[in-house]
Amino acid sequence: MSAIQAAKGTRDIFAPEIHAWQHLEGAIRDYYGRYLYQEIRTPLFEHSELFSRGIGDQTEVVQKEMYTFRDKAGRSLTLRPENTASVVRAAIENNLFEALAPLRFFYIGPMFRYDKPQKGRYRQFHQFGVEVFADDAPQVDAEVIFSAVDFLRGLGIAQVQLELNSVGCPNCRPAYLKVLRQAAQARSADLCEDCRRKIDGNPLRIFDCKQHACAGIAAAFPVIGDHLCPECREHFAAVREALSWMNVPFLLNPRLVRGLDYYTKTAFEVTSGQLGAQNALLGGGRYNDLIRELGGPDMAGIGFAAGMERLVLHLEHLAAPKPKVLFVATADPRWLAHAVQLAQVLRSEGHPVYVDYQSKNLKKQFKKADRIAAAFTLVLAEDEVRDGAVSVKNMATQEQVKIPLKDLNAWLKQNT
Ligand code: AMP
Repeated sequence: MSAIQAAKGTRDIFAPEIHAWQHLEGAIRDYYGRYLYQEIRTPLFEHSELFSRGIGDQTEVVQKEMYTFRDKAGRSLTLRPENTASVVRAAIENNLFEALAPLRFFYIGPMFRYDKPQKGRYRQFHQFGVEVFADDAPQVDAEVIFSAVDFLRGLGIAQVQLELNSVGCPNCRPAYLKVLRQAAQARSADLCEDCRRKIDGNPLRIFDCKQHACAGIAAAFPVIGDHLCPECREHFAAVREALSWMNVPFLLNPRLVRGLDYYTKTAFEVTSGQLGAQNALLGGGRYNDLIRELGGPDMAGIGFAAGMERLVLHLEHLAAPKPKVLFVATADPRWLAHAVQLAQVLRSEGHPVYVDYQSKNLKKQFKKADRIAAAFTLVLAEDEVRDGAVSVKNMATQEQVKIPLKDLNAWLKQNT
C-alpha cells in the first residue's frame, strides 16, 4: 500500500526548523507585550458570510481561495483565510469594546487559502498579525508601521523595504474607481483576461497583476493619490510626518493596493530583498468601516498580517538551544526503579533526562546516548546502587566519575 502524504500546499514542521518557529513566537509575545497588545485566539473556521461580508465578495481571496464546506447541519463554513474579520467578530460578539482597554490584539496561527503552492506560498500557512481598534489618529498608523519594521529588525531581518500608500475612503474612492475603470476600459484589449474581468468588479486589483504587459499598461493609469479627498490627504500627510519622527524610511508606492476590500486610507507592505518572487513579508492597513459594517460600534481599526513561513526562512540559521541532556543507563533491569526515580528528581530540578529501558547492554546504551547527543550518561549498576551513588560518564571526554547521590545536584549545577 502506498504511504499517505500530506495534502498539497501543507507541510510538517519539526526540528531543527521548529526552533526558529518557537523563537519567532516568543519574540512576538515579548515585543507586542511592550505595546500593550494582548493575544487573541479565534476559531479556525467561521460562518462563510463573515469573510464574504468582511473581506469583500469581489476579492480574489473570497472568489477563488476559500476552503468553504457545509457541515452536517448544512451550514456554510469557511477555514479562515485571514484573521482580521474574525478578530472584529470576536470583539463584537464578546463585547470587548467595553470589557478591554486598550483594544490591541495580536494573534498567531494558521490561515487557509486555495493558492498555487510554491516556495514561500502554501495552502495552510501561518500569520502573526496585530489589530488596533481606536480612533483614526495618524500617529497610530505610524506606531503600528514602526512596530512592524522594528520587530523585523530586532529579529535580524535587515534588508526590508517599507512601501506606503493611501487607498482613500468611501468619500473619494468611488470617483477614483470611475476614472480608473475608464482608463482600463480604453486599454482592455491589451490587458490579460484576468485583468479584463477585474475592470468591472475590482479595478484596483489590476495593479497587482504580475504580467509584464499589464504592469506596463497600468503604470500609465491614474493613481488614487491624485484623487484623495482633503481628509484622506491630510491624514496621509500626518502619517508620513509621524513616520519621520520615528525615523522609519519608506517608499511611496501610488499603485500599492491590498487584496482585501476593507482597507481605507493607509495601506502598507514590507518586502524582503532576500526572498525572490514571494518577497512580501507583511501587509496591512487601516479599516475604518469594517467594525461598523460587521455590526460593531463606529470605531476605526488598523492592523497588519505577516507571513511566518517567510520570516522563518530568515531565521533558520538560529542555533537550536542546546540544553545538556542526561541519559540514564542501567546495567540490569533490577535497577530500573532506581533509574526512573532518579530521572524524576533530575527533571524536577530542570534537567532534560532520557531513561533507557533496554537495560543490560551498557555499550549499546552509550551508543544511543551519543545518538541523542547526551552530554552525560548516568550509570546505575550493582556498586552504584549499593553505595547510593551514580557513575557519571562525560560523553565528550569519556571520563567517568562516581558521585554520591546526595552530591549529584551540586555536581550537575557545576557541570551542566
Ligand atoms: P495578506 O493577508 O494577503 O495581506 O498577506 C499578508 C502576508 O501573509 C503576506 O505578506 C505573506 O507574507 C503571507 N502570505 C499570504 N498568503 C500566503 C500563502 N499562501 N503562503 C504563505 N504566506 C502567505
